[in-house]
Amino acid sequence: STLLDIKNLHVAIKGEEILKGLDLTIASGEVHAIMGPNGAGKSTLASTLAGREDYEVTEGSVLYQGADLLELAAHERAAKGVFLGFQYPTEIPGVSNLNFLRSALNAQRHQRGEPPLDGGAFMKLAREKAGQLGMSIDMLKRFVNVGFSGGEKKRNEMVQMTVLDPTIAILDETDSGLDIDALKVVADGINTMRGADKAILLITHYQRLLDYVKPDHVHVLADGRIVRSGGPELALELEEKGYQSVA
Ligand code: ADP
Ligand code: MG
Ligand code: MG
Repeated sequence: STLLDIKNLHVAIKGEEILKGLDLTIASGEVHAIMGPNGAGKSTLASTLAGREDYEVTEGSVLYQGADLLELAAHERAAKGVFLGFQYPTEIPGVSNLNFLRSALNAQRHQRGEPPLDGGAFMKLAREKAGQLGMSIDMLKRFVNVGFSGGEKKRNEMVQMTVLDPTIAILDETDSGLDIDALKVVADGINTMRGADKAILLITHYQRLLDYVKPDHVHVLADGRIVRSGGPELALELEEKGYQSVA
């Protein structure tokens, strides 16, 4: 069934139109990749869906689980299962990964009207999810991303994602600048999350992540619109011929 339905989306930043009539429909269980040249509006789309400020929707609609997503505040979207990964993860000195995760999870539970997880239940969950992604307890106890390598930050982001267990994850160039090992960690995180009731929107400039995560649909975003859609083979074609061939 349809999870996210974007129709004729126009978005402006500081009065300048960036998205110019974007259409995209994502069903539960699907992985969609959005590729496109720099400046096309990929991050603008991700930020708009997450509800960041400064992104003004001037036309069009976004339905999530059949309801208007755009009228919800960012934290309400998160509580309803919309997760946005970060291109550049922040360091939070003084806050351990465990405390950060527990606060984020309990804030989400609070929004949903669920009681907070107690310490024992939380630790069990955190250990399980971190273990699946090869993160040690020692790493979980360290301050968020402080002194982490690029790959460790990505692993951490994937642990955050799987602990929060979103319904739709939007990953914006979460693969940029990664070596092959880190790329495999991101792919593991995504593949761990894949499921019939989940969807993933992978935004990427490069084809190589798609060697490890096979998308159901690939789209090209150029100048604020989806200009072409296809299957996984489209990513290979783009790699070979470049964006000029389609945009
Ligand atoms: P992409 O992620 O595809 O590289 P972006 O969505 O980041 O593209 O940017 C699309 C366009 O919007 C670019 O021309 C960029 O300069 C502009 N833009 C993005 N963010 C801002 C901002 N905060 N203020 C002004 N212009 C912005
Ligand atoms: Mg489909
Ligand atoms: Mg971007």
